[in-house]
Amino acid sequence: MSRKPRLILSRQALAANYQRLSSFSGQAECAASIKANAYGVGIDFVAPVLWEAGCRTFFVAYLEEALALKSLLPDAIIYVFHGFKASEITTARASAIRPVLNTLEEIRLPGIAELRPAVHVDTGMRRLGIPQYQHDRLLEEISTCQPSLLMSHLASADEPLRPDSEQQRHVFESVRSSLGVLCPPSSLTNTAGILLGDPYHYDLVRPGIGLYGGSPDPNDPKGFEAVVTWQAQVIELQQVRQGETVGYGGSYVAQHDLRLATIGVGYADGYLRALGGQGEVLVEGQRCPIVGRVSMDLITVDVSSLASVNEGTWVEIMGTGISVDTVAAKANTIGYECLTRLGARMERMNV
Ligand SMILES: *Cc1c(COP(=O)(O)O)cnc(C)c1O
Repeated sequence: MSRKPRLILSRQALAANYQRLSSFSGQAECAASIKANAYGVGIDFVAPVLWEAGCRTFFVAYLEEALALKSLLPDAIIYVFHGFKASEITTARASAIRPVLNTLEEIRLPGIAELRPAVHVDTGMRRLGIPQYQHDRLLEEISTCQPSLLMSHLASADEPLRPDSEQQRHVFESVRSSLGVLCPPSSLTNTAGILLGDPYHYDLVRPGIGLYGGSPDPNDPKGFEAVVTWQAQVIELQQVRQGETVGYGGSYVAQHDLRLATIGVGYADGYLRALGGQGEVLVEGQRCPIVGRVSMDLITVDVSSLASVNEGTWVEIMGTGISVDTVAAKANTIGYECLTRLGARMERMNV
């Protein structure tokens, strides 16, 4: 009987990526963005490894994620990106979880100063944070919430040739200089922003994707190592004759006789359906193309070029041989989506 697809998670690669991002960031503290179950990699695996590597500050999206993290790392400093409601103050206070305040209303919440919040100023992303037309009001009121961190977020850090990041940094600078001596420690960058260099680092950086082995520029991966190696087993081998079709809808027509391996992974595991006829997997060290559509639990791969492949052979779907960014490009998406879609059914092995 065949086994479920599996994820082999490398502690060494995760710790090395953290050290690398930290060394790219100069004097700034290197925090970690671990929202969405650590980008799908798994918070239970990721949090203790990062702590051991020296990471002390973490960012999540929701209070529930913060509470889960707190139970893994009781001494961690944890910020919650998605703002805060008055009803959550008691819970946050009891667990020493710090909100990121995104609106003037949140800054005015009674008792908020006790939580040592961060304040998010929008500098041009226009998604979260106090918008620029309210910065004057913010400057008048910010001291009431006694922020532990001033933050903003770059919209186009992964496109260093555009002027956008520099414009955002200037807006951030003007808020900082208006605050003068009252300015709290500051944080502007994600992974891509770290690579923009020293003026962007401030006091704390908060990378996500680089920790997990993705890169802002797939053509220049900066040495980030694959944390996730995704493998699946060959379940059946078939001979297909020229002119025969493969899979749902008969969308693939064999141009010549071929040997076909059916592999136990599909879109239910997060193997994106867009990879049908586009993706490749690594069989016995060799890249082999997906033919036909991706099914819920299966893909079909042309292994004609291989001398030997057997039922039960483990195949690399994504990992050191085929990077998350390569898979993403073939699916016309980004590495973030490939990671966060990794399915719950798979076996996970920490090495
Ligand atoms: C997710 C996130 C990050 C991390 O971004 P990466 O591109 O994964 O490094 C940093 N800051 C904010 C506000 C985020 O939402």
